[in-house]
Amino acid sequence: MNTEFSAGKFWTPIIQAYLDGHTALPSYMGLEPEGFSLVCHYFQITPPAAFSHQHPQRLLLSDLAGLRQSERQDLITLLNQYRNPEDSFSSQMTTVLSFACLGTQHLWHDIGMPERPLLTQLFGFYYPELRAMNNRNMRWKRFLYRQLCTTGGDYVCRSPSCETCSSFAECFEVEESASQHTSASQHQGMM
Ligand code: SF4
Repeated sequence: MNTEFSAGKFWTPIIQAYLDGHTALPSYMGLEPEGFSLVCHYFQITPPAAFSHQHPQRLLLSDLAGLRQSERQDLITLLNQYRNPEDSFSSQMTTVLSFACLGTQHLWHDIGMPERPLLTQLFGFYYPELRAMNNRNMRWKRFLYRQLCTTGGDYVCRSPSCETCSSFAECFEVEESASQHTSASQHQGMM
């Protein structure tokens, strides 16, 4: 697999959005400093000289993520279960995704992608089985937490069945009416 030309379409917008301050990612996108430098170098992105990983907003996100370490570890375990190890940066992507899941907006937004379809492609590339499992076009963050719920976690699901659940409209990608939009925005904590 040619990492440079396949994974770059995912990593480039994520790194760029992080550098522009448009993600919910903590310092170094949640990676070790060396890991962050490695992906930047590999995908040929040079952070501006004035860029600081110690910006108060990024440090706050790091602190908040530390309070949800157990939840994030559950996400990593889930993602690793389905991770395609062929790509050199699949482990780093799992780390970045786990941090992005802690944000309050849609996952594609929190990780810094310009649109949801690109995130779906990312899942197809790095976690092909998960992509295939999400055959009802469920919102990705909800889908991941749904997997955690079905394996004994207690994160989002108050109903054993999506069909009978009052949160259906928040979990699935559907035509958004004004009322659905209002409802969803009241539950932004896990999109
Ligand atoms: S619709 Fe309800 S049961 Fe289904 S994933 Fe969403 S919260 Fe869980």
